[in-house]
Amino acid sequence: MQSGSLDSIASMVRAAKEIVVFSGAGLSADSGIPTFRDGATGLWNKVDPDEVASIEGFLRNPARVWSWLLQLKKLVDERQPNAGHQALARLQASCRGKQLTVITQNIDGYHSRAGNAPVLEVHGTIHRLRCQQRCGFSANWEESAVEPYPCPRCGAPVRPDLVLFGEMLDEEVFAAAEMRSLTADLFFCVGTSFTVQPAALLPVWAKRAGVPVVEINPHPTSLSAVADYSIRSGASEFFTALGAQIEAQQG
Ligand code: NAD
Ligand code: ZN
Repeated sequence: MQSGSLDSIASMVRAAKEIVVFSGAGLSADSGIPTFRDGATGLWNKVDPDEVASIEGFLRNPARVWSWLLQLKKLVDERQPNAGHQALARLQASCRGKQLTVITQNIDGYHSRAGNAPVLEVHGTIHRLRCQQRCGFSANWEESAVEPYPCPRCGAPVRPDLVLFGEMLDEEVFAAAEMRSLTADLFFCVGTSFTVQPAALLPVWAKRAGVPVVEINPHPTSLSAVADYSIRSGASEFFTALGAQIEAQQG
């Protein structure tokens, strides 16, 4: 990482009033949650995402999708937010008089567990269940719920409250994410490959609205050429260094 970039970015954080951090699976990689497209180990490697993480797959075989997502939930429950999540929570705590909004594609809940708020979970969460028909029923996902069951209110299938491939995003959450992205004065993108739409549009919209965009990813992405700063680094390393740099500037 170039120390000049870090110094400039720390100054931008100090001057900003509204900061957005837009995160993807790469942020949770250091927690041991496999990312989706990194030639992933374990979980994703052995399965076809269209079978286990799509709405068509769920409608075809609810039990299979349920049991695979339950494995993922167990992994998430066993593991912890990492130094990157914690550095972001510290950044928020140190941001007096600023608004720091996390917009995440991750369904692991680690940003909230680390202490960030608000967190806009545009792809939902693996920790909650809801009625497929959206009759209003929702419940925490207890690990004892090992198979799909009918909604106690309307009888439709109960399912994990996350956005499966082939589904629309929650309009209210996405509209809030869009609004925050357009009005921010600094936008971080971390650990995302920009392949899942429409979430991948948020940094593009932010950039078009004149918001400075900083990308943190060990590998180049389609955003790298247009980002104001494209930092080749892991998330934990970057946000830890950024926190230290801000403290150093404040003396
Ligand atoms: P992705 O898997 O498509 O891409 C991950 C990106 O993170 C890659 O560009 C990779 O280079 C980068 N990366 C890897 N290690 C990193 C690190 N240590 N620090 C920073 N960046 C790192 O992820 P995506 O763009 O979020 O899309 C995947 C979809 O699957 C999302 O919709 C997400 O909801 C879901 N998903 C979520 C989780 C989770 O909740 N933890 C895990 C896997 C997949
Ligand atoms: Zn119902």
